[in-house]
Amino acid sequence: MAITIALSKGRIFEETLPLLDEAAIQPTDDPETSRKLIIATSRPDVRLIIVRASDVPTYVRHGAADLGIAGRDVLMEHDTAGLYMPVDLAIARCRMMVACRDDFDYEAHTRRGARLRVATKYIQTAREHFAAKGMHVDLIKLYGSMELAPLTGLSDAIVDLVSSGNTLKANRLRAVEEIAAISSRLIINRAALKLKRAEVQPLIDTFSRSAGSGT
Ligand code: ATP
Ligand code: MG
Repeated sequence: MAITIALSKGRIFEETLPLLDEAAIQPTDDPETSRKLIIATSRPDVRLIIVRASDVPTYVRHGAADLGIAGRDVLMEHDTAGLYMPVDLAIARCRMMVACRDDFDYEAHTRRGARLRVATKYIQTAREHFAAKGMHVDLIKLYGSMELAPLTGLSDAIVDLVSSGNTLKANRLRAVEEIAAISSRLIINRAALKLKRAEVQPLIDTFSRSAGSGT
């Protein structure tokens, strides 16, 4: 039976290529240069669909894709019921952090229990993090460039992904708390796992081995 794998372009696609290669799957187009959203592969029974990173779990949950690769940041914001998530692929690694202006006294605000305005794309994750700390926060939903929020007075702090920290530094921001270590997982539609086991299981096995060996 044919298999559809949902991927986002950019970082996740790049870092998934070596894993696909281990399974003898080579895409016939490069999503960075092609406008195709459905990409055939060297295996006639496997195709890739290119979707927005935050849409990957939706395609897999509804069975429009059998498998997908999604960051933990995305999965934390989604209802993952109906998804089987067997392998941490250890790719696209970064950290979910709270950050603020480097001249903002975050610690004092935390102690005083004052309200904190937090801008983020990750509303669910931020809400749970601050609730667990017993902090009162006003959450402001953004879709990108979170770094701008504290610089313009839109918010006191942000919740965002950080890897090198260079973007924070360049904008005079500092990370003040780590919320979670982030990497990407293989996610699988539960019905596909049953109905297409013969095709899906070898992929799980290959991806697990590659992830384990750090390639
Ligand atoms: P878009 O950039 O199109 O708005 P996006 O931010 O969701 O969408 P990417 O920036 O390609 O898409 O990120 C895709 C995934 O890669 C994220 O969900 C996250 O898991 C991971 N990621 C994001 N930023 C980093 C980073 N700086 N270092 C490592 N991994 C990251
Ligand atoms: Mg991005």
